[in-house]
Amino acid sequence: MSPSLPLVTVAPGDGIGPSLMEATLRILDAAGARLDIRTIELGEAVYRAGHASGIAPQSWDVLRDSHVLLKGPITTPQGGGYKSLNVSLRKALGLYANVRPCVAYHPVVPTRYPGMDVVIVRENEEDLYAGIEHRQTDEVVQCLKLITRPGCERIVRYAFEYARRHGRRRVTCFIKDNIMKMTDGLFHRVFEEIGAQYPELQRDSLIVDIGTARLADAPQDFDVIVTPNLYGDIVSDVAAQIAGSVGMAGSANIGEHCAMFEAIHGSAPQLAGRDVANPSGLLNAAVLMLLHLGQAEVAQRVHNAWLRTLEEGLHTADIFREGHSRQRLGTQAFAQAVVQRLGREPQILRPARFDAQGPLQLPAPARRAPARKQLVGVDVFLHWSGSSPEPLAQALRRLTPGLLGLQLITNRGVKVWPHGLPQTFCVDHWRCRFKAANDGLRFDEVLDLQARLHQAGYEVIKTENLYHFDGEPGYAGVHG
Ligand code: NAD
Repeated sequence: MSPSLPLVTVAPGDGIGPSLMEATLRILDAAGARLDIRTIELGEAVYRAGHASGIAPQSWDVLRDSHVLLKGPITTPQGGGYKSLNVSLRKALGLYANVRPCVAYHPVVPTRYPGMDVVIVRENEEDLYAGIEHRQTDEVVQCLKLITRPGCERIVRYAFEYARRHGRRRVTCFIKDNIMKMTDGLFHRVFEEIGAQYPELQRDSLIVDIGTARLADAPQDFDVIVTPNLYGDIVSDVAAQIAGSVGMAGSANIGEHCAMFEAIHGSAPQLAGRDVANPSGLLNAAVLMLLHLGQAEVAQRVHNAWLRTLEEGLHTADIFREGHSRQRLGTQAFAQAVVQRLGREPQILRPARFDAQGPLQLPAPARRAPARKQLVGVDVFLHWSGSSPEPLAQALRRLTPGLLGLQLITNRGVKVWPHGLPQTFCVDHWRCRFKAANDGLRFDEVLDLQARLHQAGYEVIKTENLYHFDGEPGYAGVHG
């Protein structure tokens, strides 16, 4: 095959995956997609062969060479020890943006929201998905939520650039910065900073709970939504569900060097081998891939032939409706029907018009000059099985003469000393905040404090240094 063709890695996946991939590739081939395809195995068989993340070591090289992966759905085996392949792929290939168009195909596919056309841009690498979890005490486990400025800048910039390229009007940010003032607050701030560089685009922000409720109620009011990882996970499923397109939507996972395209549905093992599943989700993912590869004209031909097939009532079983559909087709027959309609356009549904695209070229997030950072205190987390904070506070105060004074104690984030309420339910995990009397705290004083606590029999399970950055506190205050 000609070396000028773009290398594409194809992983058929599990369950219905191989059949959907066969159907999709048949359509791409007939439409004239220019691809140099390498096939790898991912998923169940690889897991069972002893590779805990569902991918064999040699497949990483194929993936990194080709930069583009078209992936069928994967069955994650039940039981412990198996890692999510999708999470591994996202992290290893740096796929920071998950882009999921959620479109209603009214009147072909039933939906309560005929005009819906929303794109969810989800941050894909950070947040609670960093996988940093610890059991700290008998009663407490924690999961760290990591939000970084470069991570926010990349995803927010991606959302605005995406909106600009696709002629969208508005970008909405979903966050929860009324509660998570520092992490979600940073996401929100970056959204405002970068959004200001796109004056032609409207922007607004909503707290994720009310935002999701409004999306579910009036999706036509939304255009592009950008949001951190966990909210994005939930919001994108809500959006796909109400669009009526769970079985038909594709998504793109975009990184600086690599990109992965897949349907949003799973491997539907109960349908495997029966030639009944709908290949539309994977086909739509392939359309996103063609756009990424700069083959907009082929993408448009495929998409319009697919729309035409749908509106002619040629449907797979999942969307077949008696009296409405014309013919129930199996997976491969549906693919054949799309192939036969290549070059035709839909008459009822809006035809696709794709411009020459290619990957969005984004500037690297700018590195900022480091802030002036000053150590001002430390939060010490103790595993302590007493029930009342008062004796703990008295003991800690006796142990910490000198510069570091005990300022407060919280339990599950609720202040219990000083002036706590006896009704507050407490577990065996106490956050004790020590602050320096003046500004010049040294780290060895923090170590000295820990040594004193240890010698006095307290179990220090973790510490968090308290810093000022350019004079501003780099830690959340405590209410109450
Ligand atoms: P699923 O998406 O496989 O199935 C949900 C429902 O949708 C089922 O009724 C199924 O029959 C139907 N369905 C899904 N795709 C269809 C299609 N193309 N045509 C017709 N009907 C379709 O979700 P699940 O049952 O929760 O998961 C099954 C397996 O898939 C699990 O092992 C899960 O971990 C995996 N999964 C993988 C991915 C992925 O690889 N990205 C995503 C989701 C689930």
